[in-house]
Amino acid sequence: MPNHYAASLLRNLRNRILIDAVIVDMLRMDIRPDETQLRFRCPLCGHFHTATNSKTNLARCFDCEKNFNPIDLVIAVTHCSFVDAVERLKKRSHWMG
Ligand SMILES: [Zn+2]
Repeated sequence: MPNHYAASLLRNLRNRILIDAVIVDMLRMDIRPDETQLRFRCPLCGHFHTATNSKTNLARCFDCEKNFNPIDLVIAVTHCSFVDAVERLKKRSHWMG
């Protein structure tokens, strides 16, 4: 079933809700805060060989060789649908940088 969200809304959720805030404050993922990089437990492989990129607003797992934008990450961690992930992120729009 196609979704009817405006492309601009989806772009804003992907690009402007900071990936670090999604990891730490929204999803409360396991992290290793003592590193210079924000390393989070990859929802796919469970390892911490990960990093976030503030320029691209993506979270990457180097073992899985996979990038997660905020929508991807909410789906991977909570196993929710695309629509649910968008609705959850919309509630955090006040975080947009
Ligand atoms: Zn992984």
